[in-house]
Amino acid sequence: MTKFVDLDVVKKSIRNIPDFPKPGIHFKDVSTSYQDGAIFRFIASEIYDHYKDAGITKVIGIESRGFILGSVLANQLNAGFIPIRKPGKLPAEIYSQSYELEYGFDTLEIHQDALNSDDIVLIHDDLLATGGTIGAAIDLVRNFGISKIYVNFFVELDFLKGVEKIDSSVSVWSLVHF
Ligand code: AMP
Repeated sequence: MTKFVDLDVVKKSIRNIPDFPKPGIHFKDVSTSYQDGAIFRFIASEIYDHYKDAGITKVIGIESRGFILGSVLANQLNAGFIPIRKPGKLPAEIYSQSYELEYGFDTLEIHQDALNSDDIVLIHDDLLATGGTIGAAIDLVRNFGISKIYVNFFVELDFLKGVEKIDSSVSVWSLVHF
């Protein structure tokens, strides 16, 4: 029998972990959504439906949870998959972008030959919180002179207003909101 899945089922499948990885952070654990075949398939197909006519040529996944749905979406959209990685992981020439965290700084990297200026790009990550990570990813993509950038999250934490930090020329859409 096929399991019934809708957005409400998807939302309820996300596990809340209080005070992880540190006190005061309410972690949304998406692994409990991805571990259910019917739910995982529903999430990927809803996101695919949203972008299927956008002409996406490259899907970018942000390490590491952005790789999971990012590669599925690339496959469904008949697009290439590009990883944005943490420092020191990519072996060839890179662009590098540092960004501010709550305490300190972090860096993301992309290969210099990953994209062309005529690519239509979809950047995917599992979750939008404060927006620092996606801001750095967009800055990395800007190195290639790309004019059309789409950004997708499985989950968006509306109360952190991360979306307000994203450049208004970028088209942002999230499947699930808290
Ligand atoms: P931010 O840069 O603040 O938007 O944080 C986004 C990144 O951190 C994403 O890659 C998420 O996987 C992770 N993240 C931040 N806050 C949470 C949270 N409350 N629950 C799960 N993941 C989070």
